[in-house]
Amino acid sequence: MPELYIDGAWRAALAGGQRDIRCPADGSLTVTVDEAGPDDTLDAILAARRAFDESSWPSGSVHDRCALLHRVADLLASHKSDVARAESLDTGKRLVESEYDVDDVVAVFRFYAGAAAGTAGRVVDTGRPDVRSRVVHEPIGVCALITPWNYPLLQTSWKVAPCLAAGNTFVLKPSELTPSTAILLMRYLIEAGLPAGVGNLVLGAGPQAGALLTTHPGVDLVSFTGGLGTGRQLMAAVAPTVKKVALELGGKNPNIVFADADLEVALDFALTAIFLHSGQVCSAGARLLIEGSVKDKFVDELVVRAERIRLGGPFDDKAETGPLISAEHRAKVEAYVEAGRGEGAQVRCGGSRPDDPALSVGFYYLPTILDGCTSSMSVVQNESFGPVLTVETFVDEDDAVRIANDTIFGLAGAVWTSNAGRAERVASRLRMGTVWINDYHPYVPQAEWGGYKQSGVGRELGVAGLDEYRETKHIWHNVRPEVQRWFGDG
Ligand code: NAD
Repeated sequence: MPELYIDGAWRAALAGGQRDIRCPADGSLTVTVDEAGPDDTLDAILAARRAFDESSWPSGSVHDRCALLHRVADLLASHKSDVARAESLDTGKRLVESEYDVDDVVAVFRFYAGAAAGTAGRVVDTGRPDVRSRVVHEPIGVCALITPWNYPLLQTSWKVAPCLAAGNTFVLKPSELTPSTAILLMRYLIEAGLPAGVGNLVLGAGPQAGALLTTHPGVDLVSFTGGLGTGRQLMAAVAPTVKKVALELGGKNPNIVFADADLEVALDFALTAIFLHSGQVCSAGARLLIEGSVKDKFVDELVVRAERIRLGGPFDDKAETGPLISAEHRAKVEAYVEAGRGEGAQVRCGGSRPDDPALSVGFYYLPTILDGCTSSMSVVQNESFGPVLTVETFVDEDDAVRIANDTIFGLAGAVWTSNAGRAERVASRLRMGTVWINDYHPYVPQAEWGGYKQSGVGRELGVAGLDEYRETKHIWHNVRPEVQRWFGDG
């Protein structure tokens, strides 16, 4: 079956484009998919436009839309193993992690089914008895949903679920590297009853399949998750048509450990913070900020444990983390570490590919710790999006906050301390969209996610994640209109 889904039909690309998707763990062929060119994307935009302007979808009942989202959640839950397997083959991540992702995706669809039903608008007291005033929410229109490869289906669900809950139509463009679960999601949406044209899927690389989504006047909103450089390009591209834009970009997230923390727990979490999914996590705790008095002992033990991390493919039960997404991405991580060496960072472990011949065909890179870093170094400022931890030392609370905030990013961060007052003080001073206290990485669909500073614009998840997909309209109804005689009557 062809893999582009446009105006209610699966079809191949007009220009015949195709791409082989290979598992990053061993290079084996996962699937060959059709790849859209601008002509296909144009058809998808026009189909979404017609479905918004001419069908009853946007003005239909919220109840029906929410029921559809629940049916999609049911389908995802009942096909969990197929979906997780497809995700792992595309990304190389461990199967168990993909299974967790599917659980989270189901929760996201269910959350937005409930959130949309419970937030219809509000009545405004104008102080005038002759006026009925209310604020209502309406869909924005045609939404372009552009997603990355690290959590392909999860990032997609953060967009598709609120987009549909609010009554919009969409064109989804997943990363060209990881299209499989977007195809599955589209099938479940259709099975759940999504009307033709409301949801459209184009696959392919950004410039060929995605660029038109940012410039075409028929698109009202671009919701993008990806790298900072692409985000800047997109923001410029949407300017001439003044589209709404939501950006979830990169991070360079500090994990701050005070000497009074439970250091055993903090150490364990410091590993997960950075090495989960080999660091290919936007909120990865890539900067360890450690209080000077405990630094040596903490980092020595961290190095010992990082060296023990077992790498392997998605279906290797013993593996603790997997490969990087591609040869190109690994080359970027390698260049990043070399830059760190050049700047004087000390490579305490990793800093190379693994020796194990069994891993030589995949895009593996060893968990790496760069010691002796300062925030003036490029390795501290730039996102590696790989398994690379930089270590900086601080002397006190003010110093920790100053160093932590000293980047252009503001996505997430954590503070570890047994002093509750300090924990709250630091949390409120960190310029980041998410702060964990004595924890790292958890999120829930009920709570907003997004970046301060150059980590993004807008929010996903929570009610704010729904508001991104809604216009707000004030309706003023004068129930006893009377002549005013502001101007004379002649
Ligand atoms: P990327 O910017 O290379 O690509 C993201 C998406 O944009 C892909 O679908 C790509 O094809 C598309 N794209 C590229 N150029 C385009 C163009 N000109 N027009 C339209 N679409 C275009 O990012 P990536 O490498 O796929 O993902 C990694 C990045 O994503 C990291 O920087 C990471 O921090 C970020 N990320 C952020 C969050 C968050 O919640 N803030 C979550 C996950 C990933």
